[in-house]
Amino acid sequence: MGKNTEKVAEEAAKIKKINSVIRVDGAHLEHLLAEDAAKIIENLSESYKVILAAHSWFSRNFLPRVGALLNVSLITDVLKIEKNNIYTRAIYAGNVYAKIQSKDHIQLLTIHTSLFEPCSRDGGDAKIIINDAPPAMNLTTWKSEKINKSDRPALIDAKVVISGGRSLGSEENFNKVLSPLVDKIGAALGATRAAVDAGYAPNEIQVGQTGVVVAPDLYIAVGVSGANQHIYGMKDSRVVVAINNDPDATIFQFADYGLVADLFEAIPEINNLI
Ligand SMILES: Cc1cc2nc3c(=O)[nH]c(=O)nc-3n(C[C@H](O)[C@H](O)[C@H](O)COP(=O)(O)OP(=O)(O)OC[C@H]3O[C@@H](n4cnc5c(N)ncnc54)[C@H](O)[C@@H]3O)c2cc1C
Repeated sequence: MGKNTEKVAEEAAKIKKINSVIRVDGAHLEHLLAEDAAKIIENLSESYKVILAAHSWFSRNFLPRVGALLNVSLITDVLKIEKNNIYTRAIYAGNVYAKIQSKDHIQLLTIHTSLFEPCSRDGGDAKIIINDAPPAMNLTTWKSEKINKSDRPALIDAKVVISGGRSLGSEENFNKVLSPLVDKIGAALGATRAAVDAGYAPNEIQVGQTGVVVAPDLYIAVGVSGANQHIYGMKDSRVVVAINNDPDATIFQFADYGLVADLFEAIPEINNLI
């Protein structure tokens, strides 16, 4: 769905195991609005038993509306899929795992991508089907967007993520203290919600239940307390390093390596050592 989607459809067609790619193109889909996206999926839904997306900002924008249009439940952030439409998902910020069975005629799901094997982006040869776009819904209008451009790797698929917490104290400190190390080791920058809410870091780098879920090879939590909602977004990381001046901080329970230290001293020292 979008404007000028030829190239992206061709790329999608190369993904292994995909049979067909449906391309819906229209000038009014350039800045895809939830109402228009939901309408397109509703129109296609008759032919499908399962509508599944990655649990991302993108899908979370319009799939609830698809659920309402089709009168089915959206089952979000699925951790495991079993036979007979049984799904495992986390509730209470990952403290409880619920197993639920859906009886809806269409299964509408978002999945916790770090727990599923990615498909290879090559080797597929899907057919591309072109569908007409329904007319614009015109319920809301796209006005403008502000995109933070960065040369750093994208948070979602970075091999190394360094996240800072509220303890950084200001936007200036957040960047001054963390950026040199982040850039030196080619990491992506992440943040806790407390840091985002305080205005120290932009919303799109929030890691956690209500932010981005990451699973890098190395996750370095700097001045992060380890609240459940944050842990939910990084607990699948291969190696976790925590730096915190409180030896009893919860984050240490989830860390492979812990350093009890003042971050304002430790981070520049580590930076000088590498
Ligand atoms: C519905 C809901 C959804 C939420 N979603 C998210 C989410 O997606 N992501 C998320 O992160 N949070 C989320 N939260 C918020 C979460 O509960 C915590 O409040 C938040 O993660 C705490 O952020 P923090 O660790 O930066 O701050 P704090 O809890 O204030 O912790 C700061 C830590 O820094 C340490 N520290 C202080 N000074 C220093 C220093 N000089 N050197 C080293 N260490 C120091 C302290 O010991 C402390 O452990 C959510 C909350 C709710 C209710």
